[in-house]
Amino acid sequence: LSEKITSAFKKLKSRGRLSEADVKSAMREIKLALLEADVNFKVVKDFTKTVTERATGAEILESLSPAQQVIKIVNEELTKLMGGSNAKINISPNPPTVVMMVGLQGAGKTTNGAKLAGLFKKQQQKRPLLVACDVYRPAAIDQLKVVGEKLDIPVFEMGQGDPVEIAKAGVDYAKKNAYDMVFLDTAGRLHIDEALMDELKNIKAEVQPSEIMLVVDAMTGQDAVNVATAFDDALGIDGILMAKMDGDARGGAALSTKAVTGKPIKFIGTGEKLADIEPFHPDRMASRILGMGDMLTLIEKAQENYDAKKAAELEKKMRANRLTLTDFADQLAQFKDPEAMQNMLSMIPGMDSKALSGAQVDEKAVAHVEAIISSMTLKERENPSIINFSRKKRIAAGCGLKIEDVNRLLKQFEMMQKMTKQLNGMTKRGKKRGGMN
Ligand code: GDP
Ligand code: MG
Repeated sequence: LSEKITSAFKKLKSRGRLSEADVKSAMREIKLALLEADVNFKVVKDFTKTVTERATGAEILESLSPAQQVIKIVNEELTKLMGGSNAKINISPNPPTVVMMVGLQGAGKTTNGAKLAGLFKKQQQKRPLLVACDVYRPAAIDQLKVVGEKLDIPVFEMGQGDPVEIAKAGVDYAKKNAYDMVFLDTAGRLHIDEALMDELKNIKAEVQPSEIMLVVDAMTGQDAVNVATAFDDALGIDGILMAKMDGDARGGAALSTKAVTGKPIKFIGTGEKLADIEPFHPDRMASRILGMGDMLTLIEKAQENYDAKKAAELEKKMRANRLTLTDFADQLAQFKDPEAMQNMLSMIPGMDSKALSGAQVDEKAVAHVEAIISSMTLKERENPSIINFSRKKRIAAGCGLKIEDVNRLLKQFEMMQKMTKQLNGMTKRGKKRGGMN
């Protein structure tokens, strides 16, 4: 989707002034791109109509080129379409906050309920409790226990009992034991049926959750939107967790859901690991769709992984293009987990997979890097361009490694610097265009 929309803009960019016909033809392409991405037909129609009206209307900003204006409008309208700003979970003034995870079988309720509990535990110092209300498969309880254990979050279960009783007992248990959040892992079905809805309605009536969070599978496109409509009509939902966004290159479900159901996406699941969850930010998603990458999420991710002060320092240095080898070593050490690193890098626009594989990190490599850097002089660390062959030889001998190892490190560092420059260029462009946030 991103590519198609970008190409529609490219055609606009090459022109000095924008005519009504230009806007119309760009809109035709955007419309096609959205339909191809499986965005709901009516949503596409309304969207292109609004953008066309605004783009051909009186709203003209002197600081922007005509193409930039269209991009700005598309960005703003995409953001609006997805709900405007990040919608938060309803937190109950009288703890515990009960979050009821609902959805079809396989949508991702169990995994993402646990991810969500983990997120609140880590970021807001909450004490969450997971409650096993999916009693139809013994494996469901075990699955919840496994993820609970990984996150060090307790699981309340009563075996194959009555889900309504379990939910109630779970909430009581939370009250007695000072858990301030309860996540109810409910059962799903392959299709929406009355028995499922009745059970969910009974749980809802019994525990009166602060938040009914519907989990839908982004990869199912329009179906996800239909499921959301059905659950909202039958049960009433408060928010949507769009799981498996990592598998939905087209973004159609994310774009349509709010407009069709009126209920916001609050979180997105971005992978199978328990850390793969993010609050949903419509503005960032719009920017991502427009191919500008997602700088804020990237920086947030970084902050989660390093301590905040280091991240601030690093960000400042990155912005000034003054990254040194000492910072580099620091940064590598923060990312001992290669997947976390990959994840971050993949959010940078224009990064290709070749660059990604070159940037892989493993613990041994990190140890080598630390060894190499510690046998450099301070001057060399701050200004690696002075490292000539004889210095390389000295450094290699000092750390017991080969010259090739020193070369590889310098190359990686160079790549990191390039990336930083690219990143800085991006944010500047984003700011100038006024479309980032
Ligand atoms: P439930 O039946 O609704 O409880 O679904 P589960 O939580 O058991 O998830 C079903 C499958 O989807 C599991 O294999 C999960 O690992 C996978 N899954 C859940 N969320 C995500 C996600 O955000 N991305 C990816 N790639 N897989 C996910
Ligand atoms: Mg489940």
